[in-house]
Amino acid sequence: TPREMHLVDLCTRQAVDYIENAQLYAQLREADRRKDEFLAMLAHELRNPLAPLSNSLHTLRLCEELSPAAHHVREIMERQVQHMVRLVDDLLEVSRITRGKIVLRKEPVELLTALGSAVEASRPLIEAARHQLHIDLPGYPLCVEGDAVRLSQVITNLLNNAAKYTEEGGQIWLAARREGDSAIISVRDAGLGISAEMLPKIFDMFSQVDRTTRRAQGGLGIGLTLAKSLVQMHGGTIEATSAGVGQGSEFLVRLPLALRSLPVIHSPSVVS
Ligand code: ADP
Repeated sequence: TPREMHLVDLCTRQAVDYIENAQLYAQLREADRRKDEFLAMLAHELRNPLAPLSNSLHTLRLCEELSPAAHHVREIMERQVQHMVRLVDDLLEVSRITRGKIVLRKEPVELLTALGSAVEASRPLIEAARHQLHIDLPGYPLCVEGDAVRLSQVITNLLNNAAKYTEEGGQIWLAARREGDSAIISVRDAGLGISAEMLPKIFDMFSQVDRTTRRAQGGLGIGLTLAKSLVQMHGGTIEATSAGVGQGSEFLVRLPLALRSLPVIHSPSVVS
């Protein structure tokens, strides 16, 4: 009957759609896999010439006969090579993350110590921009089970971003506290802020508000992706808030505390 013919036609079209979608999905997955492979290869290839370049510049630094002009050029080259090394390292890290190649070396970590090394690592950027860093840490320990180097890397990243996306001479706050069975770390700035539209996207890979070369500190839009993955690998969460452009931003990292830093709950004594 015509009605049956119509139904057969409908089913056939849906089956064709389904097959086409499945093929498209397989193609996209393959393209995604090849993109990850390409990123890994690119990062390795770019890194190879950087090591000898960096070493040669270091040798030049020890050379006393350099004229002031040559010394100036060497300094510029050294800064640019360092920047390049950072970018390539970020690329390598992200390609490791997407391929599940990052392994944490977990041990009991006193967060306040990890925060201390993050402050040290980001100090050059903060000082270069003449920002003021206010630190508010608790007088009690915050112990988590984690990888001290990676945790410190997450906070360094947030502090560096606070420094990068704040006009010179700005204010940055680093605070930590305990909330229930979690440690909360807050990195806040009174800088450029993030629009409501951009806020949900900033943790996505290669996502940046300003892609122009005017950016003072060019990055690849990888730092926050990496930070989020690392925090999640520690069983934690990371979120960003901002009242909008020009209103500053706050990044909150929540990490589960290790049992030993939680208060001991005494069970009622047994009366026999
Ligand atoms: P990158 O800094 O290399 O661009 P990130 O992944 O660290 O990459 O950050 C992604 C984007 O999020 C940045 O390009 C910037 O637009 C925005 N962003 C991150 N931190 C801040 C901040 N503290 N204030 C304003 N914008 C920020």
